[in-house]
Amino acid sequence: MKTLLLFAALAFAATAHAQFRMPNFDINKMVDTVKNVGKAVKEIDEPEEIAIGKDVASRLLGAAPLVADARLQRYVNQVGRWLAVQTERPDLPWQFGVLDSPNVNAFAVPGGTIFITRGLLERMRNEAELAGVLGHEIVHVLRKHHLKAIQKGAQSSLAGDAMSMALKDRAGPARDKLIAFGTEMYSRGLDKGDELEADRLGIVIAARAGYDAYGLPSVLQTLQAMSAQDSAIALMFKTHPAPGERLAALEAMQPTLDAYASRPQLADRFRAQARR
Ligand SMILES: [Zn+2]
Repeated sequence: MKTLLLFAALAFAATAHAQFRMPNFDINKMVDTVKNVGKAVKEIDEPEEIAIGKDVASRLLGAAPLVADARLQRYVNQVGRWLAVQTERPDLPWQFGVLDSPNVNAFAVPGGTIFITRGLLERMRNEAELAGVLGHEIVHVLRKHHLKAIQKGAQSSLAGDAMSMALKDRAGPARDKLIAFGTEMYSRGLDKGDELEADRLGIVIAARAGYDAYGLPSVLQTLQAMSAQDSAIALMFKTHPAPGERLAALEAMQPTLDAYASRPQLADRFRAQARR
């Protein structure tokens, strides 16, 4: 059994190595992959997606309000919207908010609302890192990761046609259940595959927007250096694969990362806008 596992590991290493040497990485091709998304959720149309997201966002905001700093919020929105217009859903009502929480986390809500905590922002060093994290969250929206998880979970917990009731009657008890389920999801987390996909494609979006592609890996290194005992990062560790595992999964992307590495990190602008 051990030999078999070792063999599998070697085979994987060989594949990773082959990808490592891939000479001409076509970033536009990868962005096209980002563009071909969002067809799988048939039952929930875009206005419903946006409405569900609004309800979930207001519950999340009830738990942690926005930082009362208009300049900071405007800055994070500018960076986020610049990233979002590089994607296939530029017309969603994208909005980005910094939550007044010392915890280290970021969330994407269906329909284009993205939150990042003050605790995570304080541990960043430049705008490329911010772009990497926002890029990751944008992918969750593009790929409808949360929407699909909410839909899947709600269908098993809401009997019969309660799901369509929840969509139709925005003030009824079925709707309440759906939104409660959607909010709870942020303490349970998504599938690991969704998180790793968000890392890969988030990096592509940040690179396409002109940033140093190492922004997200650099944040993952910061997270990796934090103690698992640190309560500020407990929820992030509970809901995401370990940072080391996420970094290892990105190794195959090294040629892309290197090709888009010596681009702006915008540390000065970040300090001027995001530090209070
Ligand atoms: Zn994520």
